[in-house]
Amino acid sequence: MDEIVKKIEDALEQFYMAITQLKKESANLRLEVERLEKENKWLREQLPGKTASPVSFKEGQDALARLYYEGFHICHLQYGNLRTEGDCLFCISLLKK
Ligand SMILES: [Zn+2]
Repeated sequence: MDEIVKKIEDALEQFYMAITQLKKESANLRLEVERLEKENKWLREQLPGKTASPVSFKEGQDALARLYYEGFHICHLQYGNLRTEGDCLFCISLLKK
């Protein structure tokens, strides 16, 4: 009898740990979704043709620089993609203009 109780306790403990882990992962996912929603909104606002408030060249450059340093490509080759391999020469050449 004691052994069965012990087994059930162990199982419950594992179950509890699994739930804790799931909760953590779900919280992380929620944060990730929030981040992606913000990023998506930001990117949509940068789309040409949606220029309700025209930005000056300077502001445009600043926004691009910010995007670049947040880890995204701003060059026409890979615009909006994550920079996974460090600096991109095409992006940098845009920033130096
Ligand atoms: Zn690039």
